[in-house]
Amino acid sequence: MLRFAPSPTGDLHIGNLRAAILNYIIAKQTNQEFLIRIEDTDSARNIQGKDKEILGLLNLFGLLWDRLVYQSENFKQHNIIANELIKANKAFYCYCTKEFLAAKKEEAIKEGRAFRYDDSWALLCKDVNNKPVIRLKGATDSISFFDEIKGECSFNQNEIDSFVIIREDGIPTYNFACSIDDMIYDISYIIRGEDHTSNTPKQILIRNSLGYLKEIKHAHLPIILNKFGKKMSKRDNESSVNWLLEQGFLPQAIINYLLSMGNKPKEEIFALKDAIAWFDIKTLSKSPVKFDIDQLRHINREHLKRLNIKDMANLLESQDLSIGALAKVYLEEASTLNELRDKISLIFSKKEISDENMKLIKDSIMKLIDEDSKSLEDFNSFKSALIALTNLNGKALFHPLRYLLTGSYNGPLLNDIYIYLRFYLKEILRS
Ligand code: GLU
Repeated sequence: MLRFAPSPTGDLHIGNLRAAILNYIIAKQTNQEFLIRIEDTDSARNIQGKDKEILGLLNLFGLLWDRLVYQSENFKQHNIIANELIKANKAFYCYCTKEFLAAKKEEAIKEGRAFRYDDSWALLCKDVNNKPVIRLKGATDSISFFDEIKGECSFNQNEIDSFVIIREDGIPTYNFACSIDDMIYDISYIIRGEDHTSNTPKQILIRNSLGYLKEIKHAHLPIILNKFGKKMSKRDNESSVNWLLEQGFLPQAIINYLLSMGNKPKEEIFALKDAIAWFDIKTLSKSPVKFDIDQLRHINREHLKRLNIKDMANLLESQDLSIGALAKVYLEEASTLNELRDKISLIFSKKEISDENMKLIKDSIMKLIDEDSKSLEDFNSFKSALIALTNLNGKALFHPLRYLLTGSYNGPLLNDIYIYLRFYLKEILRS
């Protein structure tokens, strides 16, 4: 089974989404189930409703799961297993107070050495602290694993001291709950962000301590950098999946882009189901990748071009196919749904009549609407009728006419869009 394990503590980040997409693809490629596990261990940081929001987004992106679980459902099980580890002498109660540990850390800093928990401290504060945590005994040997992207990763035992697995309130820590659940749900392959690389040896140690020897494959995805080359954070708008959707990027384009990052896809523009056929995680670059919004815009526009006019109209909240067709012409100069919305609302915006010619053209169109609807049928007859009525031609006619019809002095050829505008002329020219 493959899994995606979001914490309901914040917005879905593109890094999380990328991990979800890859887990989903590998599940499909290897005919395994795809589990969503909501990691709600941190009750202080959990945000009510975030789980539903994340699930809604996964659904929107077509990352449909076979199973959904909440980690808190297993807290009892986590505690039972922690107690078994105590009985087997692989874990122990630690009564150290926060102050005691802070002082020890301070001491290590002063002496210029790395802080490492010393198992002999476990009972020192027993008289003053009646709420012990449970710690797993640290590693006695180095721990290594093979990463499908990074290659061999090895951690010295000094880097893995005895660490907390159950907090003083009985809640398991992330590493413990995650490691146990990966075992319970028989996860075969873990794909997650690079920031979790140093958690992996701890999670392996937990399972090893329980005698669970089934090997789990790992892949840690390189971090995503912002345009300044810094790790993307919440402050970078583009890192939020919701923000990208609000800007009018299509889910299929976001997927296409995320799968192209640090990768050489078989084709430039593709759908999730195509990627299932050829995606190979081993071709992903090991180095961090920069998020390039211009590349996403390009991919988005290509996906918009591939929409049929009905879907395009629907996405623009219109029932009218003409609006869908009009938007497709406007893709010459727009790359997102929001930009298309802006272009279209400009067409219907109120126009300032700036001179006599413009007034004359407008009055003439109104006259044609009322008296000669035949001349409105196509752009050529419309043009001829206007020339006849206004005695204007060339720039003197087309410049103001373009503004009256589109709200802008530049844009697609009137010839290409007139047909979609003709039934709206009255609305477009309203004053
Ligand atoms: N809840 C963790 C996160 O959102 C999951 C990490 C993992 O996949 O193990 O970062």
